[in-house]
Amino acid sequence: MFGSGTLRRVASELERLGASRALVLSTPGRADLADRVVAVLGEAVVGTFAGAVMHTPVEVTEEALSRARAVSADSIVSVGGGSTTGLGKALAVRTGLPHVVLPTTYSGSEVTSMLGETTEGEKVTRRAPEILPDVVIYDVDLTLTLPWPVTLTSGINAMAHAVEALYADDRTARTEQQATDAITAITSGLHDLHRDADSTDARSDLLYGAYLAGTCLGGVEMGLHHKLCHTLGGSFALPHAPTHTVVLPYVMAFNQPAADAAMATTAKALGVDDAPSGLQALVASWGGPTSLGDLGFRTSDVPRAAELTTKRPFANPREVRHDDLVALLVSATDGTRIGANR
Ligand code: NAD
Repeated sequence: MFGSGTLRRVASELERLGASRALVLSTPGRADLADRVVAVLGEAVVGTFAGAVMHTPVEVTEEALSRARAVSADSIVSVGGGSTTGLGKALAVRTGLPHVVLPTTYSGSEVTSMLGETTEGEKVTRRAPEILPDVVIYDVDLTLTLPWPVTLTSGINAMAHAVEALYADDRTARTEQQATDAITAITSGLHDLHRDADSTDARSDLLYGAYLAGTCLGGVEMGLHHKLCHTLGGSFALPHAPTHTVVLPYVMAFNQPAADAAMATTAKALGVDDAPSGLQALVASWGGPTSLGDLGFRTSDVPRAAELTTKRPFANPREVRHDDLVALLVSATDGTRIGANR
């Protein structure tokens, strides 16, 4: 469900699912979002848990699970970004409870049946139909408070799903169209919002683009970019969306020789001549992060990150050797400017 004010539909959706005792989840800083859901649901809420954090650590899930049991919750409502949705998925898959998501970032997690969980410093992803949330309500009003830096990096996180979908081996005409539309909508949303911070239309474009990108993420196999960001987030505690934002142009440049058509489509949707350098320049012009070093990653971490990433095979249009990855990570850590390749 899309639109403005769609939050109120959470009540009828829970009723339709036969639920009347919801546990509402949020991140620690956004309990206000949970309050807005509670205001709509009233007595249909039996508890709140404002402890969701990035990369779904299992200890937090255990804590939330105890809370769900203590209040005899019969449903989960997640309001927030991918961290909250991840916690909701982790609870839903463990309990079988119905799960309603109100996304407020552009992570796309709400439309995938994937869940990445972190245990003892390693993030492991699994896929199961029960992980896919039952209902997603996109209410643009809930996204109006998202600060520009988070908006930008979350938008590029969504764009990454679409970019990798364009060169996925298992792509279809439909996913190619969704990916192209996603990149177009996200680019236009970011341009417009950068010009006018109060534009609800720009926010709507971003949310729609994020939904399309999320369906790409859930529908086709992702490549090097997602594999690498997964390692950097899970094992080096780097922030999810900013990491995607820095890494994406470097992976695009690396894959470009083996993914010409995908990069040409991406460039057109971005409105630039060359996709990797064009995206990096756009991110810089919007004030976004362009180096992993600025996110706390050190050159001394590069060998271990390369080793962890290449430990298991993954899909990618171009073969990735350990040395390639080391070179890519060194450039990304330094924030080396990517040259145009035309
Ligand atoms: P996030 O959920 O941590 O949100 C980022 C920040 O934005 C937080 O500080 C949050 O409080 C704030 N925020 C959210 N909504 C807000 C609002 N309306 N106003 C103001 N601030 C707001 O980060 P994210 O990037 O959305 O999600 C990252 C997590 O999602 C990671 O753990 C990642 O692995 C996971 N993820 C999973 C999938 C999947 O398919 N399984 C897909 C994408 C991301």
